[in-house]
Amino acid sequence: MCARVCTGIDRLCGVAHAVLTHEVARYAQDREPVIVRRRCRPKAADPHTRPADPHRSERTVTPSNQKPAGASAPGIRLGAVAAQAAIAAHPRASVLIIGAGINGIATFRDLAMQGIDVAIVDKGDYVSGASSASSHMIHGGVRYLENGEFRLVKESVEERNSLLKIAPHYVKPLKTTIPIYSTFSGVMSAPMRFLTHRQGAAQERGALLIKIGMMLYDSFSRDGGTVPRHEFLGRKASLRLLPRLNPGLKYTATYFDASMHDPERLALDVLADGLAAGAHARSANYIEAIGMDAAGVRLRNAVTGAEFSFQADIVVNTSGPWTDLTNTALGQTSTYMGGTKGSHIVLDNRELLAATGGREIFFEHKDGRIVLIYPLAGRVLVGTTDLEHDMTQPARCTEAEVDYFFDLVKHVFPDVAVDRSEIVFRFAGVRPLPRHDDEAPGFVSRDYRIESRPLGARPGTLLSLVGGKWTTFRALAEHLSGDILTLLGRTRVVSTAGLPIGGGRNFPATDAAHRVWIAANGDEVGASRADQLLTRYGTRAVDVIDFITAEPDEALEHHADYSRREIEFLAATESVVHLTDLVLRRTSMAFRGELSLALLEELAGVLAPVLGWDSARRAFELDLAVDVLRDRHAVDLTTVDAASAPRA
Ligand SMILES: Cc1cc2nc3c(=O)[nH]c(=O)nc-3n(C[C@H](O)[C@H](O)[C@H](O)COP(=O)(O)OP(=O)(O)OC[C@H]3O[C@@H](n4cnc5c(N)ncnc54)[C@H](O)[C@@H]3O)c2cc1C
Repeated sequence: MCARVCTGIDRLCGVAHAVLTHEVARYAQDREPVIVRRRCRPKAADPHTRPADPHRSERTVTPSNQKPAGASAPGIRLGAVAAQAAIAAHPRASVLIIGAGINGIATFRDLAMQGIDVAIVDKGDYVSGASSASSHMIHGGVRYLENGEFRLVKESVEERNSLLKIAPHYVKPLKTTIPIYSTFSGVMSAPMRFLTHRQGAAQERGALLIKIGMMLYDSFSRDGGTVPRHEFLGRKASLRLLPRLNPGLKYTATYFDASMHDPERLALDVLADGLAAGAHARSANYIEAIGMDAAGVRLRNAVTGAEFSFQADIVVNTSGPWTDLTNTALGQTSTYMGGTKGSHIVLDNRELLAATGGREIFFEHKDGRIVLIYPLAGRVLVGTTDLEHDMTQPARCTEAEVDYFFDLVKHVFPDVAVDRSEIVFRFAGVRPLPRHDDEAPGFVSRDYRIESRPLGARPGTLLSLVGGKWTTFRALAEHLSGDILTLLGRTRVVSTAGLPIGGGRNFPATDAAHRVWIAANGDEVGASRADQLLTRYGTRAVDVIDFITAEPDEALEHHADYSRREIEFLAATESVVHLTDLVLRRTSMAFRGELSLALLEELAGVLAPVLGWDSARRAFELDLAVDVLRDRHAVDLTTVDAASAPRA
């Protein structure tokens, strides 16, 4: 019966698909965005032999084109204090980028590779804004089809397919299943939305509509046939595959997208590529743009409080959801933005993890919002919401949002019990969406645009990025830097399309290549440790292995998966300023719920000599980390047994 219904849906959809494909091709054309081994390499620096003065950290960059085959990408190799000092000591560049989320960082990389004199700063840590709050999906955005955003979907799937190749260490294929509870629901409202660009009432999408969407998505996204076609199954077959799904479902649709296993580390790799281009590319975290004067953009060091003016011909505002606030600080009031808050929870629930069958379950909740449940790093990520937010306030995942998530888990897996005690991490961020007035958040365009205006206080141009997803960062950066090159009267010398990112360079693509890599790099650290480091850093693991084998090393007492030397490596080479930078963004310890007070204390002890912390600073960092984890991520370490070993 179901097979017959599915076939009927296939036929009906074939006709609709033919008509729509023609429309889509035309639309996609019309709607371009408005774009106003171990190798003969020196051992890395050792913090014990090199005194703990970050000012003395040096960038040791080897241009990628001089690297032997099989070598890794260089690391950032720059202490934060030295980086901040380098910006203040030479406060002039052709381009200043304000905001080091993924879009600012990708633009920095692109410009650096063109030989442009460029500096990037962030008021906080790298990738600590919206870019650290995503659903970890690299996706075409099947639901954007309904909003008529064909250009964005096309670009997104192309970038998804490319990222699977150029960043295979962090971007992995993601099998995605949509449970469907009705056959015809939404067949009137969705086309009306498409034709009128009005949202209408939230209504469930039925099988027919989803089938049309899947067929269109296939036509955009199959990358010459390498990405499998979607699959539509009836109830029985669906429940055979995923028996814990709600038995009330009628069909499932399954297709492939991709997920980022470690967005923060991927962004750090993009940054490292930019820095590797040469000394003309400089970056610093914890430097905030606070104003504009006749000498340039006023910058303030968030750690020392020191202020200075930075002169640039082009100032690029990529401060994401803070874009209007940054423009206002620069004396250039704007009302471009209308960001919405989205939250997630990370659950340590083995039953739920098994129920997902290793797939993302992507579905529509009762309110019409598209939500997701999916396995990541041995945990289950559940998200997300879409709520108006005041950007002067920090974003937090509230108890009401947790209730919403538990409700949706119950809707999809009714007999899998979830409990608040299983939440190991919460996070929330604000999407840098354009101002949308009375349009409902879920229907606001996810596409991006670039706004241009004179700098004001001095000659030059201010470019503001409005929007921009994680998925499209490379393409977006190419567009944005293209505009900048035009303004500077320069021409592109290299395209980033198809260029491997960081530890994705020479990443072993087959099991045989993987075995060869482990054999070549595991002689000193052992095969399983080499494998763990390859998973964690891609081929940049060779730098980590070089460093950790230069001195005696030992596993951390409170986290056996990390060693002291590995933490020292991250501290010495990846601009760690605070303990929170390490646990939230250089490692995924917090995300996985692996922290304890004892571990934080141990980590602070490892960082102290590398970063020059005295006992007062160490105590301050510990308190700060405990506060941030409690306030922003609902991780209360005072209730966690300090002696408890982290869950692996
Ligand atoms: C809940 C949620 C889920 C999402 N899910 C996905 C997904 O699955 N897939 C996807 O592709 N996209 C997703 N996105 C969208 C994506 O994460 C963002 O669009 C993208 O990360 C934006 O990056 P950005 O660099 O533009 O902004 P941000 O990452 O916010 O970076 C802006 C930076 O500017 C800095 N800054 C602000 N003001 C100043 C100043 N005055 N001086 C110096 N620095 C400043 C901030 O500290 C911040 O680091 C999601 C977003 C959210 C919030």
